[in-house]
Amino acid sequence: MNQTAQILFPVNVSTAFDYAVPDGLSLARGDFVFAPIGKQMKLGVVWSLNSNEANAERQLKSIVDRKATRPLPSEMLDFIDWTARYNGASPGNVLRMVMRNYKALDPSAVVTLYRPSGDAPKNLTTSRAAVLREGGPWPARASEAAARAGVSSGVVKGLVKAGGLVAESGPVDPPFEHPDPDHPGRKLTARQRAAGDDLVEQVKARTFNVSLLDGVTGSGKTEVYFEAVAQALRQGRQCLILVPEITLTQAGLRRFKERFGAEPASWHSQMGDAARRRVWREVAQGRCKLVVGARSALYLPFSNLGLIVVDEEHDTSYKQEEGVIYNARDMAVVRGLVSGHSVILASATPSLESLHNARTGKFSHVVLPERPGAAVLPDIALVDLKDHPPEKGAYISQPLLDAIKEVTDRGEQALLYLNRRGYAPLIICRTCGEKLKSPDTDSWLVQHKRTGRAMCHLTGFSMPMPKHCPKCQSEDSLASVGPGVERIAEEAQAAFPHARVEVLSSDTAGNPVELAERMRRMERGEIDILVGTQMVVKGHNFPRLTFVGVVDGDLGLAGGDPRAGERTYQTLVQVAGRAGRADKPGRALIQTHQPEHEALVALAAGDRDLFIGVELAMRDMLGLPPFGKLAAVIFWGHDPAKVDDLAKKFLNAAPRAEGIEILGPSEAPIGRLRGLYRRRLFIRADANVNLSKYMQAWRAKVRPPSKYKIQIDIDPQSFM
Ligand code: ADP
Ligand code: ZN
Repeated sequence: MNQTAQILFPVNVSTAFDYAVPDGLSLARGDFVFAPIGKQMKLGVVWSLNSNEANAERQLKSIVDRKATRPLPSEMLDFIDWTARYNGASPGNVLRMVMRNYKALDPSAVVTLYRPSGDAPKNLTTSRAAVLREGGPWPARASEAAARAGVSSGVVKGLVKAGGLVAESGPVDPPFEHPDPDHPGRKLTARQRAAGDDLVEQVKARTFNVSLLDGVTGSGKTEVYFEAVAQALRQGRQCLILVPEITLTQAGLRRFKERFGAEPASWHSQMGDAARRRVWREVAQGRCKLVVGARSALYLPFSNLGLIVVDEEHDTSYKQEEGVIYNARDMAVVRGLVSGHSVILASATPSLESLHNARTGKFSHVVLPERPGAAVLPDIALVDLKDHPPEKGAYISQPLLDAIKEVTDRGEQALLYLNRRGYAPLIICRTCGEKLKSPDTDSWLVQHKRTGRAMCHLTGFSMPMPKHCPKCQSEDSLASVGPGVERIAEEAQAAFPHARVEVLSSDTAGNPVELAERMRRMERGEIDILVGTQMVVKGHNFPRLTFVGVVDGDLGLAGGDPRAGERTYQTLVQVAGRAGRADKPGRALIQTHQPEHEALVALAAGDRDLFIGVELAMRDMLGLPPFGKLAAVIFWGHDPAKVDDLAKKFLNAAPRAEGIEILGPSEAPIGRLRGLYRRRLFIRADANVNLSKYMQAWRAKVRPPSKYKIQIDIDPQSFM
């Protein structure tokens, strides 16, 4: 018999390649195999098999061997194909995302582990006592126990000799604890219980279905979707909870532990190789039942998935913008479809797409209209900056100052929100007008006072704040224009000299430990006025926070993003929702120059339906999502003229089709990024067009010169 196998390799290839299967090798779809590609031997995956006589004459290279490990589940292969097809990506690149942790295909290495013997050691020094007290959870490696107890590994070894610890062998990557669905949880309110029951029914159905869990901020959405998670766990299936990367904090994970009695596996971009390997292996084996992760957790090789929850489904961080471009929220729905299970999208400010799907019956709509107990939603009002201009050189208007005084006098907390890191977004020379610019990117340098540097926020480039203007050499001529959080904090501190003012942004809380520490200080009331960026918006509860002041309500409205109004509305609802979470009512004031903008009007009126109505009508008229489709094409390269040529050539190759509009090409707003020039095309399509397929056919017609790149972005979220 002449069997051929189609092998997909985890490299940039658009298709699986044919190989001959040697006699005696029995293969199945999803098996990992070694096969020659070029001069190399590579690990790939069997995508399909056939015993096609037509291939008998062809001289095919032969597969060398099968790797003795679990195959990739068939639904995972389907999901990879879907992802590639939908996003116009190459299947090989998608497979590469899945196989990045291929070392986890091998069984865990066995190492020596220790646990307390139960006997008192011969000589119990203080450091040995520390190991016994703080070295666990047991069994542990000597180095882990030592690190946890804050002693050297030598102490642990000494303790073994002294009889306080015994050695055993075990896997270096231990399994995760089993979550217990019936661990006693919080008592739900009647409304929460009803919502939870709806979601549980969906999970019980064991079919593909999507629910939009639409609940106001602080309504207990997490508690409610925990019920659905419990149900899937009772069925013995795996659960994946996707969260925006920055909410993946210890405090967030603690809630899972409280509800299910076990720490879930977590997955995020900052974890090390060993931790990744452990999660990947345990998920692949089906032993790890509960994963809380950032978007890429969607590409873990679950073998028995029963539920995906996408928390804060409206969040833009679900869109991966590099490598394979995909939206994890949409792909979560695809994953549910492929494996036939429930998907829950949760948000206080759902995307218009999801709301539209709920209204048209594609998703079921589960609503939580109120906060539990005495907590009420904050009262939101606008401050028209024309009527209340801040003093010259200042950015906080009198109404905000009054409100801050009022709450801090009562011993409560205030939050000032401005989504701008650093001190000032622009540095300009008073003598010659020069603006400090990033060396290889079209972006202004941002002044950071705390570090004394000028920084490019797009690339991370930074340099010490210059003393002289780089153009005219004038000394002390550089002026800071506009506010960032550092400057607002300075202004707040000057206005309230006795208040404890702190800044929270990715600069001041760069690592998770520091962030958690600052959050705890805020929770304990050790901060009076917190000035924060987007970082404070997500998923934190500060019981004493009763006032939120938005420094610039217009910030998100500029630029070419058709979702600008929606984003502004979502962000401001979320920011305002930080106020008044416990028994104290909260209030929010939004400074704006456009008090007539429909997003702001609806916000102040507390009338979401008003906003959604206006916004949907406008999208309908313009044929924008959810009534039409969008795609972007970005062309990249070193020589601007050649990038222009490439864009024109691409435009000319556009396949003819009904219901397609093409805009561009034009220079992207960020015309140069890290030294590469960028041009952009937008494609708008009617709802009935298969835009992915159209783009793929188009893309196949043009080959960029080497080192030039054509990037397809289906349903773009970024318009820079
Ligand atoms: P959301 O995700 O909707 O913003 P959370 O699930 O985070 O809401 O709940 C908000 C706060 O209210 C949390 O501190 C949570 O512990 C608390 N909470 C929610 N439901 C209940 C309940 N039934 N009883 C007591 N506290 C609750
Ligand atoms: Zn100058």
